[in-house]
Amino acid sequence: MSDRSIRRLSDATVNQIAAGEVITRPSRVVEELLDNAIDAAASRITIEVEGDGTDRITVSDTGHGIARKDVVRALERHTTSKIQPESTTLIESVQTLGFRGEALAAIADCATVTVETNTGEPRGTKITTGPDDEPVRHDVGHAQGTTVTASNLFANRPARNASLAKPETEFRRITEVVSAYALLYPQIRFVLRHNGTETLSTTGTGITASVLGVYGRKAAQHTRSIDHRQAVSIDHGGTHAPRTTETQTVRISGFLLAPTIVRRSNTHTTVAINGRPVRQSAIRDAVVSGYGSRLGSKEYPIAAISVTVPHSLVDPNIHPAKQRVGLVGEDEIAAAVSKAIETALTSGDERIAAQTPT
Ligand code: ADP
Ligand code: MG
Repeated sequence: MSDRSIRRLSDATVNQIAAGEVITRPSRVVEELLDNAIDAAASRITIEVEGDGTDRITVSDTGHGIARKDVVRALERHTTSKIQPESTTLIESVQTLGFRGEALAAIADCATVTVETNTGEPRGTKITTGPDDEPVRHDVGHAQGTTVTASNLFANRPARNASLAKPETEFRRITEVVSAYALLYPQIRFVLRHNGTETLSTTGTGITASVLGVYGRKAAQHTRSIDHRQAVSIDHGGTHAPRTTETQTVRISGFLLAPTIVRRSNTHTTVAINGRPVRQSAIRDAVVSGYGSRLGSKEYPIAAISVTVPHSLVDPNIHPAKQRVGLVGEDEIAAAVSKAIETALTSGDERIAAQTPT
């Protein structure tokens, strides 16, 4: 190109770049909509998927809803109710799953989006928008809560559409996402439907019930819950700051399955850090290594482990799709996780041994 002058990108291009990072495949739409439903304190979440998810994804929740005056704004970029503009809150200290105010806007950049919502008023609000459409707002009958539908995902992005896997694979990824959330949030009732048929549901009545819903009866019978607190000594600072060591309490909770039921892939080992579902390989590997020689080669456990640490140790804002968080003392915390898993399995072995008549 001969003209090397530097120009500002158009808003449309900026939006496309951001959307390309946030919404990479149908399961990412599901993750973002589940984050929003959980942030809205929903007790029940229903996910409906048509085809591979590009045809249609609908997520309905029983959360607090969006006020009529805010619905159009919710779909704009960088609009959020989760960080107050006048507050000095650091993004590092947000406790909600969302905080960037970009998910709905990113989805609407690559799909037709309908939001139906009600905060508990006699009438709810419905708006429809899409990559080339201005939002249109109507009144609608809707119970308290929110239903977001994304249809024709990537219809305006042929290359992205072509890069998707087979429909079964894309739906399996969606199932993995819903399973992970259902296991990490056992107090919420989840229902997943594919082409009108229910494929997964949990009752929202606790860990064993959620394992039953996701993995079936045999797995539920082999479920051990874990709730362990451990003091961990964490090194702070380093290259640019003075080194200090402090002791922090790490809580390791959730459940694991006895190694009599295993899987061939590590996608069934689910991790949350301070309530955020993440693919944090250091912690996931720590869960696996806690099983030690109880696992054969190429065997992976079924487990959903929540690690809770002081907020000062976590930076939620290091990954565009929030798949990882920054974690101070990750190695020490991972070691604590391995130890906790090993201890839980060992005491379980003793329980089983004690019950076996000699
Ligand atoms: P973020 O979650 O980072 O704030 P989003 O684009 O995902 O950004 O959502 C924008 C805003 O829309 C949220 O801050 C919230 O106020 C509102 N919102 C989105 N989904 C829901 C929902 N399911 N229930 C209630 N409010 C919602
Ligand atoms: Mg969000």
